[in-house]
Amino acid sequence: MKRGTDKFSDFVEHPRYGRGPRITGQNPQTNYGSTFIHWHSPTDCRIPNTAINANTSRQKEPTVAVTHYYDVERRCRDCGRMFIFFAEEQRHWYEVLRFGLDSDCVRCVECRKSEQQTAHLRQRYESLLDRSDRTDKETLELIDCALTLVEHSAFGHRTLQRIRALLNSFPSESKIRRHATFRGLANRADILTEAAANHPMQPSGEVGRFEVDDQPSPPADR
Ligand SMILES: [Zn+2]
Repeated sequence: MKRGTDKFSDFVEHPRYGRGPRITGQNPQTNYGSTFIHWHSPTDCRIPNTAINANTSRQKEPTVAVTHYYDVERRCRDCGRMFIFFAEEQRHWYEVLRFGLDSDCVRCVECRKSEQQTAHLRQRYESLLDRSDRTDKETLELIDCALTLVEHSAFGHRTLQRIRALLNSFPSESKIRRHATFRGLANRADILTEAAANHPMQPSGEVGRFEVDDQPSPPADR
């Protein structure tokens, strides 16, 4: 199997499938009755000579079974970089993981990964926040989650007030305040507070790009 390169050198690299297309030499066209290419792979994003055969019996209850998958070009909805939704990746999605054929890949692998991490962190944050019997260690973890979510722009700067309140919930004589962990968290909070105050889009240091603060995000595309 040869690999194409050139124009694909700027594409986001997939850890399993790589960056450039996988040339198979197969180039089938839709022919009703025998050959059906996925509707998310119109000719303008299809990479020629990259098709592989599908096993239609493994696809999940298809209205119309897809007989071949092509490597297709995509622009990531989050970071705007180009990437390939690989034919083999599609086979994995639709035949092994058995995602419905309606699932499409709209984010590059890096953004999908960071989105999963953010979702996981947010879940942890919410479960710790709800807990009335939090230990000191868990409160520190809660602060850490919140700071990371603000640092990654998943939460708005208004969360800093909550973080500050959580930090202040440790009495001034508490030994925890002298721990490196606590000092590290307080330092990150200071840096973010300063950044929020100096942000050109946020003259008040309060409301900026992120109108919604620590609200659940809408369901994500895969
Ligand atoms: Zn991306």
